Amino acid sequence: MKFVPEKYSIADEPMKPFIDPDEIWQFISNTKPSEQEIKRVIAKSLNKQRLNLHDVAVLVNTTDENQIEKIKRGARQLKEKVYGNRIVLFAPLYVGNYCCNDCKYCGFKASNKNAKRRTLNNKELIENIEALEDNGQKRLILVFGEHSKYSAGFIADVVKTAYKVKNGTGEIRRVNINAAPMNIEGFRKVKEAGIGTYQVFQETYHPEAYFWYHQKGNKADYGNRLISLDRAQEAGLDDVGIGALFGLYDWRFEVLALVRHANHLEACYNVGPHTISFPRLQDALNFKVDERYRVSDEEFARIVAILRLAVPYTGMILTAREPEHIRKEVLQYGCSQIDAGTKIELGAYAEAKRTQEIDKEQFLINDSRSLDEVISELLDENYLPSFCTACYRLGRTGEHFMEFSVPGFIKRYCTPNAILTLAEYLLDYAPEGTATKGWNVIEKNIEELNEERIKNQTREKLCLMKEGKRDLYF
Ligand code: SAM
Ligand code: SF4
Repeated sequence: MKFVPEKYSIADEPMKPFIDPDEIWQFISNTKPSEQEIKRVIAKSLNKQRLNLHDVAVLVNTTDENQIEKIKRGARQLKEKVYGNRIVLFAPLYVGNYCCNDCKYCGFKASNKNAKRRTLNNKELIENIEALEDNGQKRLILVFGEHSKYSAGFIADVVKTAYKVKNGTGEIRRVNINAAPMNIEGFRKVKEAGIGTYQVFQETYHPEAYFWYHQKGNKADYGNRLISLDRAQEAGLDDVGIGALFGLYDWRFEVLALVRHANHLEACYNVGPHTISFPRLQDALNFKVDERYRVSDEEFARIVAILRLAVPYTGMILTAREPEHIRKEVLQYGCSQIDAGTKIELGAYAEAKRTQEIDKEQFLINDSRSLDEVISELLDENYLPSFCTACYRLGRTGEHFMEFSVPGFIKRYCTPNAILTLAEYLLDYAPEGTATKGWNVIEKNIEELNEERIKNQTREKLCLMKEGKRDLYF
């Protein structure tokens, strides 16, 4: 499947901005969704063809409830047909909240003089990683403010530390980053430290809105941020995550712009973003979400379903900013990764272990369930929780694309690896109730594997794990 770029008013060239806001608005304003058109677009996506901006405009302009239901059904079908029931779990670790920027919506902004600024020192970092490993986490995303303290060298050292911390059978096998965009040299450095995905959210793709929210600091430069992931690609870091902060500007514009960004990366570098994030803006200190752009729960569910159909071979990340009931609903439309057991206060994982009292201090998180509670509920809903990191560690890059396009890839690799990593969790960390449910789900998923050979190999590896072996994968 070779991507053929559309013709846009701004041609796609490496390291060149690619968003024309008028063009995006024209797509939105000039597209009228008829029943046939909606049907055509959903069928196109289910046929594994990528959607163009006109197709996406059809979906974002759909307001009829029955038609919206069809879009959601389409997304559900696509997820079931292509990805199956796996949900990958990770935890964010906030490393430092010093920040030179003044994003109007963020509690870490420089003008928030009351914010307690802190960077985890080496001891605290290790304690927090150990606490995360004690819970069974295997995948982290490290989060940083933007500050001269957080140079590429500093971030690379934190990544290396994270990989080194071993605690009994606990270890971190994949470290992703959410931090300020770097220059090419910087991206090279963090890649060498072995990072997985580097995430930079554009926040809003609309230049004027962007300038209003980001008036000071490095982040005020819209174009610099827009092409930052081009710089990552130039540095050889091809595993990148894009995102928009929904609620800063019209959500329909942001959805089209995210698709445009994915197209740009594919057109220039032959590889799309590894993940798309769609955080929903929360009120913060001295900041209230503008009612004009506030995204309702119903709209949020539509955004997730539309993105699933629009970029079918990109991982989709749903975070604990969303409350449990919303997470439960939108998971079915195609999210592939969620965080669990999340604590965003600096140092909170280790402190919670000591005091068990830190939760009341958290204000941004709307889903504060523990990792085990999330896993237990995923199992109840027939999902297969996974901590798999096999593709990344075996150098199989572009795994979402392979899942999508290589027949049998999921049943041969992803499902067995999800089973093996869930088994590790059940053996090492789960309370009895979760373990009982988990082994039943594992048995059911083994039975559903197509090939007898893979079934047998999975069972053999499970036996080895019960005898004490760890980190087995396909
Ligand atoms: N400093 C880096 C940056 O700005 O790219 C990364 C850390 S920042 C805390 C990570 C993300 O948090 C931002 O990209 C933004 O999308 C999100 N964020 C900030 N304020 C938020 C709010 N009030 N509600 C929801 N998400 C928010
Ligand atoms: Fe917050 Fe990141 Fe903006 Fe700093 S740069 S104020 S951490 S969103």
